[in-house]
Amino acid sequence: MDSLWHDNTRCVVTLTFDIDGPSATLRRNPELADHPSAISMGEFGPRVGTRRILDLLERHEIPTTFFIPGWVAERNQSVVEEVADRGHEIANHGYLHEPPSSLGPGEDEGAILDLGSDILESITGLRPLGYRSPSWELSGDSLRLLHDRGFVYDSSLMGDDIPYFVGDEGKKLVELPVHWSLDDAPYYTYMPVAGRTAPMATPNDVLTAWQWEFDGAYRAGRAFMLTMHPHTTGRFARLEALDRLIQHIKQHDNVEFMRCINLAEQWNQDHPE
Ligand SMILES: [Zn+2]
Repeated sequence: MDSLWHDNTRCVVTLTFDIDGPSATLRRNPELADHPSAISMGEFGPRVGTRRILDLLERHEIPTTFFIPGWVAERNQSVVEEVADRGHEIANHGYLHEPPSSLGPGEDEGAILDLGSDILESITGLRPLGYRSPSWELSGDSLRLLHDRGFVYDSSLMGDDIPYFVGDEGKKLVELPVHWSLDDAPYYTYMPVAGRTAPMATPNDVLTAWQWEFDGAYRAGRAFMLTMHPHTTGRFARLEALDRLIQHIKQHDNVEFMRCINLAEQWNQDHPE
């Protein structure tokens, strides 16, 4: 089998983080704006978790991508600056975590995209080239809107476990696919006030699930793409699981840790249609 990847790379790994803060909670349950305890769960991400994750990534010399809603970026500018200064890509994740598939009357998907990009660009000086839809819920218009704005990739779909092309003829984007089993939120989220009372998975269970997924991707020569949240994985035991996962991955030869934009651009270059 010809390798999917350039040079000697056998498996590509992207460890991505969505700094959602309390934005997803507020969007889903606007009545929780008056519940400081619920909001504080999300605030832990930009306040504490993000820097812990940045330190871990620095120790392992891993560059990656952070998706940040504009509303969170506005309130945590120094965190956004630090993420960028420490070599990571910053990408668009809406304004107040609005899933494009369920916008309300008067909400304009293109305007929300532009607002998110304007805020991130005003902080970092760079216009984002990547997008991840909040809650991974694109609308039927999303891919066209992204292409028209010069985005290079989207990361919201689940149709493969390697990058693939999406969009209409002549308006293609690279899709960097995700999956709920490769996201920390379904395993760890416990929030009674929002009705989330399923038992939390242990970090050890999550480590096992992700190790097995990486092992399969490595054997098959494919990609391993994780989604995590600083308010979730920034807690010590979960961070320990991530550290051990990285150590496991690093025991394998020819693994390349990439930022999403570098992977998307490489994919475009290596797979001309
Ligand atoms: Zn999110």
